[in-house]
Amino acid sequence: MPKSATMKKVKKSVKSVKMSKMVYFFGGGKAEGNESMKNLLGGKGANLAEMAGHPALKLPVPPGFTLTTEVCTYYWANKRTYPKNLKETVAMNLARIEQLSNGKKFGDPKNPLLVSVRSGARKSMPGMMETILNCGLTETTIPGLVELTKNPRFVYDAYRRLIMMYSDVVMEKAAGIKPEDDMGIRKQLERIMNDMKQKKGAKSDTDLSGDDLKALAAQFKLKVKEVLGKEFPDDPMEQLWGSIGAVFASWMGERAVSYRRIEKIPAEWGTAVNVQAMVFGNMGENSSTGVGFTRNPGTGENVFYGEFLENAQGEDVVAGIRTPHPINESSRSEQSRDLKSLEQLMPAAYKELSAIRRKLEKHYHDMLDIEFTIEKGTLYMLQCRVGKRNGPAAVRMALDMHREKLATREEVVMRVTPSQLDELLHPIIDPKAEAVTKPIGKGLPAGPGGARGAIVFTSEDAVNRRKEGKEVILVREETNPEDVEGMRAAEAILTARGGMTSHAALVARGWGKCCVVGCAGIEIDLKTKTMHIGGITLKEGDWISLNGSRGLVYNGKMNMLDASESNDMLDQFLKLCNSVRKLQVWTNAETEEDSSKARKFGAEGIGLFRIEHMFYGKGSDEPLFKLRKMIMSKTLEERKSALNELFPHMKNDIKKTLKVMQGTHVTIRLMDPPLHEFVPHQKEKLQELAVSLGISFEELETRATLLRESNPMMGHRGVRLGVTYPEITEMQARAIFEAASELQKEGLKVFPDIMIPVVSLKNEVVHQAEIIHKVYAEVSKKNGVKLKYMVGTMIEIPRACLMAGQLAETMQFFSFGTNDLTQMTFGYSRDDSGYFLKDYVEKGILAEDPFQTIDQEGVGELIKMTVERGRKTNKELKIGICGEQGGEPASVEFCHKAGLNYVSCSPFRVPIAILSAAQSQIRHPRKK
Ligand code: PEP
Ligand code: MG
Repeated sequence: MPKSATMKKVKKSVKSVKMSKMVYFFGGGKAEGNESMKNLLGGKGANLAEMAGHPALKLPVPPGFTLTTEVCTYYWANKRTYPKNLKETVAMNLARIEQLSNGKKFGDPKNPLLVSVRSGARKSMPGMMETILNCGLTETTIPGLVELTKNPRFVYDAYRRLIMMYSDVVMEKAAGIKPEDDMGIRKQLERIMNDMKQKKGAKSDTDLSGDDLKALAAQFKLKVKEVLGKEFPDDPMEQLWGSIGAVFASWMGERAVSYRRIEKIPAEWGTAVNVQAMVFGNMGENSSTGVGFTRNPGTGENVFYGEFLENAQGEDVVAGIRTPHPINESSRSEQSRDLKSLEQLMPAAYKELSAIRRKLEKHYHDMLDIEFTIEKGTLYMLQCRVGKRNGPAAVRMALDMHREKLATREEVVMRVTPSQLDELLHPIIDPKAEAVTKPIGKGLPAGPGGARGAIVFTSEDAVNRRKEGKEVILVREETNPEDVEGMRAAEAILTARGGMTSHAALVARGWGKCCVVGCAGIEIDLKTKTMHIGGITLKEGDWISLNGSRGLVYNGKMNMLDASESNDMLDQFLKLCNSVRKLQVWTNAETEEDSSKARKFGAEGIGLFRIEHMFYGKGSDEPLFKLRKMIMSKTLEERKSALNELFPHMKNDIKKTLKVMQGTHVTIRLMDPPLHEFVPHQKEKLQELAVSLGISFEELETRATLLRESNPMMGHRGVRLGVTYPEITEMQARAIFEAASELQKEGLKVFPDIMIPVVSLKNEVVHQAEIIHKVYAEVSKKNGVKLKYMVGTMIEIPRACLMAGQLAETMQFFSFGTNDLTQMTFGYSRDDSGYFLKDYVEKGILAEDPFQTIDQEGVGELIKMTVERGRKTNKELKIGICGEQGGEPASVEFCHKAGLNYVSCSPFRVPIAILSAAQSQIRHPRKK
């Protein structure tokens, strides 16, 4: 039930809502709404109108009408009541359905019309809200329908379904009743049905006869009365309004609220309600119901893909009650290997459906997700919407549609989200390990990439363990919307039941999360928290690994790899993005390895080479020792001699990276971190240093103590080191210029740029630039080589932003170090803010963590001011960003709009930055 804060928001927003047209009709080749009206009609309603009424489509859609999302907002803002005249308007539209229904009338004992009542928000919220089918079946209309159809089995099947759905959705959930686990009315009715099936020896629900179902419906009604204390309503209008109210109520249901929070869907949006004439997929053998995708949503392949069930109603397909049949050969899975396809069973209807598939793609220029029903051989379309897809499929479809001239270059770029692209860069199980390991289970590949984690069996456990920082895989019989929080928390999801369109598959695909569904070999025992799979028993906490792209389950913790190596599709897609964007994308990298990876992804330069990083990581023992010697030096002589020893290491490392990046700019930043960070903690190391420096251990300890600072982030670091010890700047500049000269002599084009960190004063950069230029003159003369190089500064301190005009007098480029700039602007310590920033975000005090995405209001304002002041002094000033935010989509867009020349980010974020830069150009075109 509603949270009061949410309610207040809805109430506040409704004040401005003017109730205009409340109901939109569609059917008979016409529609009052269309696809562009999603905000008002919800996605389902808008697309039903489009399919029914657009002259290029006019598809067979059963007639119906949509109550707008504004009615929902009104309902919640007015103590769950409806606007004036709604009842009359609904009655009038119901009459319009009747006019298109061959004499059928709602509640007519002889020729009754039945309707479905479904939710439909602006943005799809799979399984979050409610549906009621077969509304209008009562003791009075049942005999008429039996007479009409001569099919009592069908009528009682429809009736028992209505009782199940209605009692669950309207009489229990919408009434705010919260039963104990497993004691919900639906579960209780399902148990009665299972008992009946067992008694009758029926394998499937379709094996129950008309008499069985009639008896079942009677039992259901008794149970409903017993559990909920109320009769199941026998009045068609009461059923209709009960259903409409329950759909509106479900908008504030717990699971919908939780889903909206994750997906950031505002409560004010509301849901629409669609009331539509029923068509029946459960009228016997020549009837069926199914769901499909106009292309394969898992791979993106241009093949029609779908599942259906004979003699069934829509809910059965997604509920995983029976194994769905494939609609055609390309939709066959391991599970449906021996089942007949729609193409085989009902070739005419399949042909018609295939034609509709093509028509829809041509009309929407995108991959669609459809729902259809075949009633006694006649095909009806019940839904279409742009289909959810995983990252690899999104890229493939976009590229294919470009080739098929269904999408322009810009549409292709806009069609893949940064997070979908990220999926292409997702970890996978090491193929070598996979080749020699036998899977313990096989299901359907519902979500991309690989994952590993400890088994948990409940959503709650998933959430709790995640909070402890553990990686978990949520294993469920099948998931339902109540599991959403746990699914979110888990690394991956594994289910025993369900198909490619099951809840788990839809949700995981939407999130791009690794997921395997329908792994039929699993038996879960919730009491003992164990599962049997592939002949073994695993318990909670045991590790498994999943290959979500192939649907495989492995025992234990497999090795993982990143999947980004040689991906043709990724290359093609990025090429297209490159042809659109104006903002350049550089990388933050030091090593040969990282630089070449970034370059393969398309990085156009290095925006940050942190020179001190060569003293961390593998192979750095020797240079690190020499650096320490330099730091512990007291006299100029001592320092100079240590620097001389350090020089060849530095020159060689720089040379390797310059070589990889030949032809592009490499921005090498002078040493930045506080020196004491490099003082060893172990006694032996200190001793070794003392010996090498020829001083006593006590003397060395004294020197180390002197280096300690109480606030090193604001201490003797960055440019300040170069001011105190110009010889350190000198040696670095020499190493850079010597490395570049050697390469240039070998015929390579290199562009080394030198960047000064932690600057706040004009005199600092003047002082450092003088040293750098002097060293260059010496190196150039000595080698007879002329280099193209630039000297620039980081902008990391608010004072530097203020002084941008002055700094630009001597600097050729600026690079925003938004890690430090955020730290200094907010006064939040970079190292400690993790503790409290999450509270700020949770409580809504900050919308987002400013260390992840640029704080556009504050830090962003400083950036804009700096750009303006800097370029005013120096029109040619090159400006970039190299803080962590440089690879984050919203920050990239901000940088594009602020007129920066480039963003620089870690190698793995280069593709995301490229895509974001291209999308920014499409949204906010700039000339260069
Ligand atoms: C920054 O401050 O944003 C930056 C890139 O430098 P570092 O992270 O090395 O301090
Ligand atoms: Mg910094």
